[in-house]
Amino acid sequence: MSAPNAAVSDNTVSFPDIEISEALIRRFDSSGPRYTSYPTADRFNAEFDQNDYLGYLSSRVGASNNPLLSVYVHLPFCESLCYFCACNKIITQDHERSAEYLRYLDKEIALVADQLGPDRKTGQLHLGGGTPTFLNTAELTHLMDTLRRHFEFTPDAELGVEIDPRTVNDKTLNMLSGLGFNRTSFGVQDFDPDVQAAVNRIQPLAMVEAALNASRQAGFESVNIDLIYGLPKQTLASFDHTLDKVLRLSPDRIALYNYAHLPSRFKAQRLIKAADLPSAEERLQIFLMSMRRLLEAGYVYIGLDHFAKPDDELNKARLDKSLHRNFQGYTTRAEYDMVGFGVSAIGKVGRSYSASVRSLKAYYQYLDEGRLPIERGYKLTDDDVLRRQIIMTLMCSMPLDFQAIRQEHGIDFSSYFDAELKRLAQFEEAGMLVRDENGLCITPKGRLFVRAIGMVFDKFLGRPTVSTYSKLI
Ligand code: SF4
Repeated sequence: MSAPNAAVSDNTVSFPDIEISEALIRRFDSSGPRYTSYPTADRFNAEFDQNDYLGYLSSRVGASNNPLLSVYVHLPFCESLCYFCACNKIITQDHERSAEYLRYLDKEIALVADQLGPDRKTGQLHLGGGTPTFLNTAELTHLMDTLRRHFEFTPDAELGVEIDPRTVNDKTLNMLSGLGFNRTSFGVQDFDPDVQAAVNRIQPLAMVEAALNASRQAGFESVNIDLIYGLPKQTLASFDHTLDKVLRLSPDRIALYNYAHLPSRFKAQRLIKAADLPSAEERLQIFLMSMRRLLEAGYVYIGLDHFAKPDDELNKARLDKSLHRNFQGYTTRAEYDMVGFGVSAIGKVGRSYSASVRSLKAYYQYLDEGRLPIERGYKLTDDDVLRRQIIMTLMCSMPLDFQAIRQEHGIDFSSYFDAELKRLAQFEEAGMLVRDENGLCITPKGRLFVRAIGMVFDKFLGRPTVSTYSKLI
């Protein structure tokens, strides 16, 4: 089944032959996880500790069919606070703090690499934060030297770094390119001055444009821009102007996130006045307008909040059915083991997930005691592995083949998932998926709602959780 681009009208987004109307969005717009993992991180438990993690790491030593590694490093420092922020970050102007953090990262990287043994072929690296470029050139060079000493990057490895345009110039971008980074993601969010003031993140178009041009000149292969709709002071007209500017910058990928205002969970968001937020109706109109404009401009809808140019790797992976999801969202890198370093980093090794402590104090204390800073995690059961495969297949809008599932997992899909298949009927009836005795497939009309469809297979939903899930719109 193909899921190509869309045409437009005022209150619908139309993939070929299919119109996604406001009414459909209102009917199926539910709150739910984004499924960068299954089970989702709020289901990880404190019974999982460093010994469990060490066991999973060492189980990879000497195995002949080890997947490549994906390495994530969390760099939590930022110079100023963006009021919408839900990340684990530390606001400080004291750049001395990153030197100490780096020393602990060195320790953690060495501890994990020791457990993994010599075969540490790595196909992906991502520096996230916080603000990775809070670190100066010497610090970033040191970090890359440490990583390269312990992990062997494949020639086609994807090395990505998140960039706050306020913190870089052409020298920084040349330095990052020189260190091997080939993908970058710019946090833009919105170009409107009133919105930028309301979220305390001032970055005029000229600043972003200069950084983006510099990254292209420095040789970055793929540039992403993050946008957020639903921010304070945002209007349909103001976001339309933001999109004019974004389209002029012509990034390879665009992520269009929905702002979830959860001030009881995220302290920074208490600085946002609820009265300044667009209404639910305005958000819906902003979302529909944005979809239409991006699709009209030639971007392809990859899934959830992600758009890419037709020749971008993400779209190629979507077309050849090799698209996957991991903690960074959609990725072309299939089923890598993931090791995370730094506070709040998350890992996925074999049938396990692990999550590191969130505070610097705890992070330093664990490492001072020679322990890995693992605070929670999860050991997947056979049923979890099966459901993960199904949910991830659906999230990537790939056909689900019942026979293949039977061969791989030894279950009869129809009887094992009898209750789930009954719950899928509402989506079938709405034309969002098609099903026969061989399998099921999400239709173009269903692609906006993959989260809701995937949730049918999530056995944890309905059980208590500390998380509040965001809505589609
Ligand atoms: S949005 Fe990014 S730059 Fe802003 S406070 Fe959060 S982590 Fe730091």
